[in-house]
Amino acid sequence: MKLKETSSNAQPKKVNGIHNHDKQDSQNFTTSTNKKKQVKKTKEKLLTHKQEDLEIIGENHIATSIETPLRKDAFELDDDTKIEKIAVHFKEIMDILGLDLTDDSLQGTPKRVAKMYVQEIFKGLNPENKPATKMFENKFGYNQLLVEKNISFHSHCEHHFVPIHGKAHIAYISNEGVIGLSKLHRIVDYFARRPQVQERLTNQIGEELKKMLGTEDIAVVLDAAHMCVSMRGIKDQTSTTITSFYSGKFNEEATRTEFLKYIQ
Ligand SMILES: [Zn+2]
Repeated sequence: MKLKETSSNAQPKKVNGIHNHDKQDSQNFTTSTNKKKQVKKTKEKLLTHKQEDLEIIGENHIATSIETPLRKDAFELDDDTKIEKIAVHFKEIMDILGLDLTDDSLQGTPKRVAKMYVQEIFKGLNPENKPATKMFENKFGYNQLLVEKNISFHSHCEHHFVPIHGKAHIAYISNEGVIGLSKLHRIVDYFARRPQVQERLTNQIGEELKKMLGTEDIAVVLDAAHMCVSMRGIKDQTSTTITSFYSGKFNEEATRTEFLKYIQ
């Protein structure tokens, strides 16, 4: 690739969010020894930048994809094995913190936490736990908004592993099918039971409802408080974060306004 001429005070370009110093630096070499040294330096620089970027992503709760980043072999271990392994590691964390694990109150904690991770708060990672849905025929021919509001949910921030809790508001316009109202709650709950980022949670619920209901006309609004904002970092006790997903008719102002009026 031909390098573009850059003025001396030009800022390095950003490639995938990482400052790209190496192309510019490569123009300044004279000897191969210098080159090697420079390459090493550049690599170190890039690595530092990458780590800085990762810190920034985590601290600012930026999602990197709509899919939860899971490895292909995520479910090769069964739940019991996962619980055993997590318990060992959690015990190690407690131990490092200096806690006396022979104390009656603490002895059972590693196993208890491991069970809670696998069977409760992160059970939504496993597609086997996805709620089954039964569609019913839309016998009444009801073709207006259906809004289910104030669905409470608990999730966990994937950057700090502390709770996010709030309310979900969902709306759809039935195409041919309808689903039981409790299914809307179960879908929210399923995707919430993962290490999450609120934007991703919102989109995952929206996309799933589109598929499930066979309609584009879906709206999802989440309003949630993040413990990592209130109990650490900036320590704000009152703020909440609102995210939204609109598709189909909810991109039209009238429909969206009607929905927003109902959830006020
Ligand atoms: Zn966080």
